[in-house]
Formats: sequence, C-alpha cells, structure tokens
Amino acid sequence: MYSSSIGGAANTQAGSRVFVYEVVGLRQNDETDKTSYPIRNSGSTFIKVPYSRMNQEMQRIARLGGRIVNIQPLGVDSVTNGKAAPAKSQATSETESKPMQSTDATKTTAKEKHKADIPVNLYRPNSPLMVKCLSNEELVREGGEGTVRHVTFDLSGSDFRYLEGQSLGVIPEGTDEKGKPHKLRLYSIASTRHGDLVDDKTISLCVRQLEYKHPETGEKVYGVCSSYLCNLPVGSEVKVTGPVGKEMLLPDDEDANIIMMATGTGIAPFRAYLWRMFKEQNEGYKFRGLAWLFFGVAYTPNILYKEELEQLQEKYPDNFRLTCAISREQKNADGGKMYIQNRIQENADQLWELVQNPKTHTYICGLKGMEGGIDEGMSSAASKHGVDWSDYQKQLKKEGRWHVETY
Ligand SMILES: Cc1cc2nc3c(=O)[nH]c(=O)nc-3n(C[C@H](O)[C@H](O)[C@H](O)COP(=O)(O)OP(=O)(O)OC[C@H]3O[C@@H](n4cnc5c(N)ncnc54)[C@H](O)[C@@H]3O)c2cc1C
Repeated sequence: MYSSSIGGAANTQAGSRVFVYEVVGLRQNDETDKTSYPIRNSGSTFIKVPYSRMNQEMQRIARLGGRIVNIQPLGVDSVTNGKAAPAKSQATSETESKPMQSTDATKTTAKEKHKADIPVNLYRPNSPLMVKCLSNEELVREGGEGTVRHVTFDLSGSDFRYLEGQSLGVIPEGTDEKGKPHKLRLYSIASTRHGDLVDDKTISLCVRQLEYKHPETGEKVYGVCSSYLCNLPVGSEVKVTGPVGKEMLLPDDEDANIIMMATGTGIAPFRAYLWRMFKEQNEGYKFRGLAWLFFGVAYTPNILYKEELEQLQEKYPDNFRLTCAISREQKNADGGKMYIQNRIQENADQLWELVQNPKTHTYICGLKGMEGGIDEGMSSAASKHGVDWSDYQKQLKKEGRWHVETY
C-alpha cells in the first residue's frame, strides 16, 4: 500500500471511507446504555464510524469517558504497519472487542527500554576515549550547498558501546580564545550499534561544517569542532566522550511504525535506524512496521545518503517510504519554497491516522525551529477531527511516542 508516490489520494477518498475506532475506558452505565454500541466490562470496544461522523463520534466518546487509542480505516486503504489490511481483519462488526491485554501490549515505548541496557557516559570529558579516524568522506554532491562529511572512527580495543539514536561527544584539538581547552560538542551517531562494517568496532558521524558571516564584520566564520571534524585526516586520533541521550532511542517493538522528520544532518540518527531495520540481519530485531522518512534539504545534491535511501525504498516499498522536501528546487501548493512542513501538510491525514496508532513513534531531528511547521501541519489535520493538537501532542509525549532532538 505504501508506494513511493505520495499524494492527496487519502484526502479525496476520505469522504466515502469508514474508520474503526478502538476505544478504551467506556464503562456500562446509564449514559453508555443509550449508545448504539454495547460496552464490554473490560478491554477495547471497536466502533465503526463513517468519515462524515468522525467529529461527533469523537466528542461522544470523550463525553462517555472513553479514550480512542487507535483509528484505522476500514477497507482497502487500511494502514496496518505499512501493509494493506483486508477489511475483515480490522473489525467484523460494529462492536467486536478484544482483550485489554492486546492494547497494553502495543504500548512498547522507547522509554520502557531497560535502563540498565542503555550505555550512558562511559567516557567523560576528564578521561575521554582516544579513537582513530578510519575514513572521512564528503556527502554533498556537486552543485550542493556546504560541506557535510561522513566520519568513521575505530572503537576496537575499547569497551565503548552505543545504541541507535544516541550522541557522541567530540573534544576538538586546541584551545579557545581564553586559552582553555575547547569544550565538547555533541554529534548524533549515524551508524547502528554494530557500526558501518557490522563488526561492533566502529562508530560514524554525519557532520556539517558550520559556516556563517560574522554579523558585524561580514567575515566568513567557520565553526571550531565541525571544521576540525570535516578536515580531519584519516589516521588522526580524536578525543570522544559519551555516549549520551535517551530521547531518540528506537522502540524494541518490531511492529512499530516509525515516522522520521529530518532536516540536513538530522538524518544521522535516522540513517542508524534504517540501517538497523533494513540493512542488517539482526537475530533479535526483524522490523515489520512502516518507516516513513520526511527529509528536508536545500538542493538535490544535499540529499545525504541519497543512493542508499533510494535503494531501500526500491527494495522495501511496503515498509519504507521516503518523502523529500527540496526547498530551493520544489514549489509548495502556494508557489512558495517546499519545506518539510509543506510535505507534512500534504500528508497530514495519513500522518494523523498513523500517530493515533499506539504502535507509532514520531522522531524529529535537525535544525532548531523545524518543530513549528510540523506542529502547524499536524494541527490542521487534528482540527478536522475536532482534536486540539497541542493537547494530543502532550499525550503522545507522555506515552513516549513523540521524540524531538533539534540543535
Ligand atoms: C544532541 C545534538 C546532536 C547534534 N548532532 C549533530 C550532527 O549530527 N551533525 C552536526 O553537524 N551537528 C550536530 N550537532 C551540532 C554540533 O554539536 C555543533 O553545535 C556544531 O557542529 C557547531 O559546532 P562548532 O564547534 O563547529 O561551532 P562553534 O565554533 O561552537 O560555533 C557555534 C557558534 O557560532 C555562532 N553562530 C552560529 N551560526 C551563526 C550565525 N548564522 N550567525 C552568527 N553566529 C552564529 C553561535 O554563537 C554558535 O554558538 C548536534 C548538537 C546537539 C546538541
């Protein structure tokens, strides 16, 4: 069902569609007795709702103390972990129920990962680990803007380990203007826990060289650590710390849906996720959900890891979807530049459906400020169903299903 062509089909077909709401918390009482659906004493109640009645039904469920934990379209357009689900498998009658246990079991959040399994601060700035640079390759192709490098370090001989979604601290060589050693900078890890060579001995970063015009002098200024890394010769030794971060960890659930929204080097953790999901053959992790990457860049040559992403899309069309927003080349519906938020808006109805699935996690990574546009897109989708996005987002955060790391 998830083909690479993405458009407004969901919008246009929505009017004639029927959705199945999975509701918990409804209890048999005088009020619910007046409803057309019998209520179970425990577990989820499934209610078929035509698109035209979604608003009223949501409000009614809320009045009855129920909480909608999932909305799935009934029929050929069903979204079930990236695959089309036959209408019958959704719900066969207006009141079909299943035990509570199944709803709870789906709430495998990243937060539930065993704390002891998450490596944090194995190396600190006062005793950093020295690692050797194994490779340092340009990722921006000809005609693109700026410099972004894929840098790989050798971890062999150390006890350093990390998980997808964590960050590495890097201490650049030299001293600052006060003569003090430079402070560490954080970089999202772009490789899986097994490393690019799948031998558990390397770690990779995706680093953009910071470059800007000094606001007063107009002189070109280059960032200290990003320049250090981007110009690092192979074979050099570098001081690193960490790993750090628990916000961007992937859930263990192999059936989870993972929505990823990246700008620029924000792709780094998502590369790690996608390599773990699709490129590695891991015994204990066989991804079966839907991974949907929204990637915002300035020019086509700035689509980092483009070839590999396209290969994944070709090989796993049912499980991986790639939607790019190329701001300086593509136009949005209003004729303006195409930013990631415009792509979110174009796909807002499907995204809204997906985020309501308790198995869906959304991750945002990249430029500070990118969340604003994403919220706008999600707000307009939610409001169509009478839902306040900021309240809903708070609930998603509470459930550990909305993850943001911007810088
Ligand atoms: C959790 C996390 C993950 C990160 N992951 C990545 C990653 O994967 N890849 C990546 O490339 N970066 C990443 N970063 C950013 C990275 O940590 C550094 O901040 C970045 O590389 C710049 O560091 P620098 O030493 O080169 O710049 P610095 O020499 O420290 O210069 C930065 C300073 O320059 C000034 N400045 C910057 N832009 C302008 C401007 N336009 N006008 C005026 N002044 C300006 C500001 O004062 C700013 O504090 C991440 C940051 C965090 C917190």
